[in-house]
Amino acid sequence: MPELPEVEILVRHLRPALRGKTIREITVHRERVIRPTTVRALKQALRGATFTGVTRRGKFLLFALRRKRKPFTLLGHLGMTGRMYLQPAKEPPPRHAAVVLGLGKENFIYEDPRYFGRLTLDTHTLDQLGPEPLGKKFSLGYFGAGLASSSQPIKHRLLDQKFIAGIGNIYASEAMFLAGVPPRRAGKKLRMDYGVRLHRAIRHVLKEAIRCGSTIPLDWRGGKGGDGLFYYGTAPGAGEFYEERLNVYDKAGQPCPVCKTIIRRIVQAGRSTYYCHKCQR
Ligand SMILES: [Zn+2]
Repeated sequence: MPELPEVEILVRHLRPALRGKTIREITVHRERVIRPTTVRALKQALRGATFTGVTRRGKFLLFALRRKRKPFTLLGHLGMTGRMYLQPAKEPPPRHAAVVLGLGKENFIYEDPRYFGRLTLDTHTLDQLGPEPLGKKFSLGYFGAGLASSSQPIKHRLLDQKFIAGIGNIYASEAMFLAGVPPRRAGKKLRMDYGVRLHRAIRHVLKEAIRCGSTIPLDWRGGKGGDGLFYYGTAPGAGEFYEERLNVYDKAGQPCPVCKTIIRRIVQAGRSTYYCHKCQR
Protein backbone atom coordinates (compact mmCIF):
# COMPACT_ATOMS: atom_id res chain seq x y z
CA MET A 1 0.00 0.00 0.00
CA PRO A 2 1.47 3.35 -1.02
CA GLU A 3 2.53 5.65 1.81
CA LEU A 4 3.91 9.17 1.94
CA PRO A 5 7.16 8.53 0.01
CA GLU A 6 5.46 6.61 -2.79
CA VAL A 7 2.82 9.31 -3.18
CA GLU A 8 5.49 12.02 -3.10
CA ILE A 9 7.43 10.31 -5.89
CA LEU A 10 4.26 9.94 -7.93
CA VAL A 11 3.40 13.62 -7.42
CA ARG A 12 6.85 14.68 -8.59
CA HIS A 13 6.39 12.52 -11.64
CA LEU A 14 2.88 13.72 -12.50
CA ARG A 15 3.44 17.44 -11.84
CA PRO A 16 5.44 18.24 -14.99
CA ALA A 17 3.49 15.71 -17.05
CA LEU A 18 0.11 17.27 -16.26
CA ARG A 19 0.89 20.97 -15.99
CA GLY A 20 -0.90 22.96 -18.69
CA LYS A 21 -2.96 20.00 -19.93
CA THR A 22 -6.68 20.56 -20.41
CA ILE A 23 -9.31 17.94 -19.69
CA ARG A 24 -11.55 17.33 -22.70
CA GLU A 25 -13.32 14.14 -21.80
CA ILE A 26 -14.24 12.44 -18.54
CA THR A 27 -15.18 8.78 -18.28
CA VAL A 28 -16.14 7.31 -14.92
CA HIS A 29 -16.13 3.51 -14.90
CA ARG A 30 -16.54 3.15 -11.12
CA GLU A 31 -18.79 5.70 -9.49
CA ARG A 32 -17.71 4.49 -6.09
CA VAL A 33 -14.28 6.13 -6.35
CA ILE A 34 -15.62 9.64 -6.94
CA ARG A 35 -18.10 9.67 -4.03
CA PRO A 36 -19.66 11.80 -2.72
CA THR A 37 -19.17 13.70 -6.00
CA THR A 38 -21.66 12.64 -8.68
CA VAL A 39 -20.67 11.78 -12.23
CA ARG A 40 -22.59 14.79 -13.45
CA ALA A 41 -20.90 17.19 -11.02
CA LEU A 42 -17.47 15.78 -11.84
CA LYS A 43 -17.98 16.17 -15.58
CA GLN A 44 -19.32 19.67 -15.14
CA ALA A 45 -16.31 20.72 -13.05
CA LEU A 46 -13.59 19.01 -15.07
CA ARG A 47 -14.60 19.51 -18.68
CA GLY A 48 -12.41 22.31 -20.04
CA ALA A 49 -10.38 22.58 -16.81
CA THR A 50 -6.59 22.89 -16.99
CA PHE A 51 -4.06 21.33 -14.61
CA THR A 52 -1.95 23.99 -12.90
CA GLY A 53 -0.07 21.77 -10.45
CA VAL A 54 0.03 18.63 -8.34
CA THR A 55 0.96 18.53 -4.65
CA ARG A 56 0.72 16.05 -1.78
CA ARG A 57 -0.82 16.08 1.67
CA GLY A 58 -0.31 12.91 3.71
CA LYS A 59 -1.14 10.08 1.31
CA PHE A 60 -3.40 12.30 -0.80
CA LEU A 61 -2.66 13.79 -4.20
CA LEU A 62 -3.98 17.31 -4.71
CA PHE A 63 -4.55 18.14 -8.35
CA ALA A 64 -4.77 21.90 -8.77
CA LEU A 65 -7.06 22.84 -11.65
CA ARG A 66 -8.47 26.00 -13.14
CA ARG A 67 -11.63 26.44 -15.15
CA LYS A 68 -12.95 29.78 -16.33
CA ARG A 69 -10.29 31.41 -14.14
CA LYS A 70 -11.64 29.67 -11.05
CA PRO A 71 -9.13 27.47 -9.22
CA PHE A 72 -10.26 24.25 -7.54
CA THR A 73 -8.81 20.99 -6.26
CA LEU A 74 -9.37 17.42 -7.32
CA LEU A 75 -8.40 15.03 -4.56
CA GLY A 76 -6.76 11.70 -5.29
CA HIS A 77 -5.91 8.71 -3.10
CA LEU A 78 -4.39 5.45 -4.28
CA GLY A 79 -6.07 3.27 -1.64
CA MET A 80 -4.51 -0.18 -1.55
CA THR A 81 -3.88 -0.87 -5.20
CA GLY A 82 -4.45 2.35 -7.16
CA ARG A 83 -2.19 3.76 -9.86
CA MET A 84 -2.29 7.07 -11.67
CA TYR A 85 -0.43 7.67 -14.90
CA LEU A 86 -0.64 9.01 -18.45
CA GLN A 87 -0.97 6.77 -21.47
CA PRO A 88 -1.30 7.50 -25.19
CA ALA A 89 -4.95 8.13 -26.08
CA LYS A 90 -4.83 5.55 -28.86
CA GLU A 91 -4.17 2.74 -26.37
CA PRO A 92 -7.22 1.10 -24.82
CA PRO A 93 -7.68 1.86 -21.10
CA PRO A 94 -6.84 -1.01 -18.72
CA ARG A 95 -9.50 -3.37 -17.45
CA HIS A 96 -9.59 -1.81 -14.00
CA ALA A 97 -9.65 1.80 -15.13
CA ALA A 98 -11.84 3.60 -12.59
CA VAL A 99 -11.65 7.06 -14.15
CA VAL A 100 -10.17 8.18 -17.47
CA LEU A 101 -9.55 11.84 -18.26
CA GLY A 102 -9.01 12.61 -21.93
CA LEU A 103 -6.26 15.22 -22.39
CA GLY A 104 -5.99 15.15 -26.17
CA LYS A 105 -3.09 12.96 -27.27
CA GLU A 106 -2.90 11.35 -23.86
CA ASN A 107 -5.26 10.01 -21.24
CA PHE A 108 -4.85 10.38 -17.52
CA ILE A 109 -5.68 6.97 -16.09
CA TYR A 110 -6.74 6.22 -12.57
CA GLU A 111 -6.66 2.46 -12.34
CA ASP A 112 -7.67 0.51 -9.25
CA PRO A 113 -8.48 -3.21 -9.18
CA ARG A 114 -9.97 -2.97 -5.69
CA TYR A 115 -11.52 0.48 -5.90
CA PHE A 116 -10.48 1.56 -2.40
CA GLY A 117 -8.90 4.74 -3.74
CA ARG A 118 -10.49 8.09 -4.55
CA LEU A 119 -10.66 10.76 -7.19
CA THR A 120 -13.16 13.30 -5.96
CA LEU A 121 -14.02 16.98 -5.61
CA ASP A 122 -14.77 16.48 -1.92
CA THR A 123 -11.71 17.67 0.00
CA HIS A 124 -13.15 17.54 3.52
CA THR A 125 -10.87 14.73 4.68
CA LEU A 126 -7.90 17.08 4.36
CA ASP A 127 -9.20 19.19 7.25
CA GLN A 128 -8.72 16.29 9.65
CA LEU A 129 -5.14 15.44 8.74
CA GLY A 130 -2.36 15.91 11.24
CA PRO A 131 0.92 17.65 10.38
CA GLU A 132 3.29 16.51 7.67
CA PRO A 133 6.07 14.46 9.29
CA LEU A 134 8.70 16.24 7.19
CA GLY A 135 7.26 19.68 7.94
CA LYS A 136 7.93 22.17 10.73
CA LYS A 137 4.69 21.53 12.59
CA PHE A 138 5.78 18.00 13.33
CA SER A 139 8.09 19.20 16.09
CA LEU A 140 9.56 17.14 18.86
CA GLY A 141 7.27 18.97 21.28
CA TYR A 142 4.18 18.09 19.27
CA PHE A 143 5.23 14.47 18.86
CA GLY A 144 6.22 14.04 22.51
CA ALA A 145 2.96 15.54 23.78
CA GLY A 146 0.97 13.34 21.41
CA LEU A 147 2.67 10.21 22.70
CA ALA A 148 2.59 11.21 26.37
CA SER A 149 -1.20 11.61 26.30
CA SER A 150 -1.81 8.24 24.65
CA SER A 151 -2.39 4.84 26.19
CA GLN A 152 -2.60 3.28 22.71
CA PRO A 153 0.26 1.15 21.43
CA ILE A 154 2.80 3.35 19.64
CA LYS A 155 2.21 1.59 16.34
CA HIS A 156 -1.48 2.62 16.37
CA ARG A 157 -0.48 6.16 17.15
CA LEU A 158 1.90 6.35 14.20
CA LEU A 159 -0.83 5.16 11.82
CA ASP A 160 -3.34 7.71 13.11
CA GLN A 161 -3.57 10.16 10.21
CA LYS A 162 -5.04 12.81 12.51
CA PHE A 163 -1.85 12.68 14.57
CA ILE A 164 0.68 12.42 11.70
CA ALA A 165 -0.26 12.38 8.04
CA GLY A 166 1.19 9.88 5.60
CA ILE A 167 2.67 7.04 7.62
CA GLY A 168 1.46 3.48 7.07
CA ASN A 169 2.55 -0.03 7.94
CA ILE A 170 5.86 -0.04 6.08
CA TYR A 171 7.41 3.12 7.47
CA ALA A 172 5.91 2.70 10.95
CA SER A 173 7.64 -0.69 11.25
CA GLU A 174 10.89 0.65 9.84
CA ALA A 175 10.97 3.76 12.05
CA MET A 176 10.22 1.78 15.23
CA PHE A 177 13.00 -0.64 14.36
CA LEU A 178 15.54 2.12 13.76
CA ALA A 179 14.59 3.79 17.04
CA GLY A 180 14.59 0.52 19.00
CA VAL A 181 10.98 1.07 20.08
CA PRO A 182 8.73 -1.91 20.89
CA PRO A 183 5.55 -1.62 18.79
CA ARG A 184 3.17 -2.64 21.58
CA ARG A 185 4.42 -0.17 24.17
CA ALA A 186 1.84 2.46 25.12
CA GLY A 187 2.77 5.96 23.95
CA LYS A 188 2.82 7.38 27.46
CA LYS A 189 5.14 4.63 28.68
CA LEU A 190 7.84 5.46 26.17
CA ARG A 191 10.94 7.06 27.65
CA MET A 192 11.70 10.56 26.43
CA ASP A 193 15.03 9.60 24.84
CA TYR A 194 13.25 6.93 22.81
CA GLY A 195 10.64 9.47 21.78
CA VAL A 196 13.44 11.64 20.44
CA ARG A 197 14.93 8.69 18.58
CA LEU A 198 11.57 7.73 17.10
CA HIS A 199 10.90 11.29 15.94
CA ARG A 200 14.27 11.33 14.18
CA ALA A 201 13.77 7.82 12.76
CA ILE A 202 10.39 8.73 11.23
CA ARG A 203 11.91 11.63 9.32
CA HIS A 204 14.91 9.56 8.35
CA VAL A 205 13.03 6.60 6.85
CA LEU A 206 10.66 8.84 4.91
CA LYS A 207 13.45 11.03 3.51
CA GLU A 208 15.51 7.98 2.60
CA ALA A 209 12.59 6.38 0.79
CA ILE A 210 11.89 9.55 -1.20
CA ARG A 211 15.56 9.96 -2.05
CA CYS A 212 15.82 6.34 -3.05
CA GLY A 213 12.60 6.27 -5.09
CA SER A 214 13.66 9.39 -6.96
CA THR A 215 16.68 7.61 -8.37
CA ILE A 216 14.96 4.52 -9.73
CA PRO A 217 13.54 4.24 -13.25
CA LEU A 218 9.91 3.42 -12.69
CA ASP A 219 7.27 1.78 -14.79
CA TRP A 220 4.22 3.70 -13.67
CA ARG A 221 1.83 1.54 -15.57
CA GLY A 222 3.11 -1.56 -13.87
CA GLY A 223 3.47 -3.44 -17.13
CA LYS A 224 4.80 -6.99 -17.05
CA GLY A 225 2.47 -7.78 -14.18
CA GLY A 226 4.31 -5.69 -11.62
CA ASP A 227 2.93 -2.77 -9.69
CA GLY A 228 5.71 -0.52 -10.90
CA LEU A 229 6.05 1.33 -7.63
CA PHE A 230 9.45 1.04 -6.10
CA TYR A 231 8.47 -0.28 -2.72
CA TYR A 232 7.58 -3.61 -4.25
CA GLY A 233 10.93 -3.77 -5.94
CA THR A 234 9.37 -4.70 -9.27
CA ALA A 235 10.28 -1.73 -11.42
CA PRO A 236 12.30 -2.95 -14.40
CA GLY A 237 15.96 -2.33 -13.73
CA ALA A 238 15.23 -1.56 -10.10
CA GLY A 239 15.42 -5.18 -9.03
CA GLU A 240 15.16 -5.67 -5.32
CA PHE A 241 16.74 -2.29 -4.77
CA TYR A 242 14.30 -0.78 -2.37
CA GLU A 243 13.19 -3.94 -0.66
CA GLU A 244 16.77 -4.58 0.30
CA ARG A 245 16.77 -1.28 2.11
CA LEU A 246 13.89 -2.28 4.34
CA ASN A 247 15.14 -3.76 7.59
CA VAL A 248 12.08 -5.49 9.00
CA TYR A 249 8.96 -4.83 6.93
CA ASP A 250 7.65 -8.05 5.38
CA LYS A 251 10.70 -9.94 6.66
CA ALA A 252 9.08 -12.27 9.18
CA GLY A 253 11.18 -15.38 9.69
CA GLN A 254 14.34 -13.72 8.39
CA PRO A 255 17.27 -12.69 10.58
CA CYS A 256 17.42 -9.14 11.95
CA PRO A 257 20.10 -7.20 10.01
CA VAL A 258 21.58 -5.98 13.30
CA CYS A 259 21.49 -8.91 15.74
CA LYS A 260 20.37 -11.89 13.59
CA THR A 261 17.36 -12.59 15.84
CA ILE A 262 14.43 -13.86 13.77
CA ILE A 263 12.06 -11.02 12.86
CA ARG A 264 8.53 -11.44 14.13
CA ARG A 265 5.19 -10.46 12.67
CA ILE A 266 2.29 -9.49 14.89
CA VAL A 267 -1.13 -8.15 14.00
CA GLN A 268 -2.19 -4.85 15.54
CA ALA A 269 -5.63 -3.44 14.77
CA GLY A 270 -5.89 -5.87 11.86
CA ARG A 271 -2.59 -4.81 10.33
CA SER A 272 0.83 -6.43 10.32
CA THR A 273 3.73 -5.11 12.33
CA TYR A 274 7.23 -6.49 11.82
CA TYR A 275 9.87 -6.13 14.51
CA CYS A 276 12.94 -7.55 16.18
CA HIS A 277 12.08 -8.39 19.78
CA LYS A 278 15.71 -8.09 20.82
CA CYS A 279 16.53 -4.73 19.21
CA GLN A 280 13.14 -3.29 20.14
CA ARG A 281 12.68 -3.84 23.85
ZN1 LIG B 1 17.67 -7.26 16.12
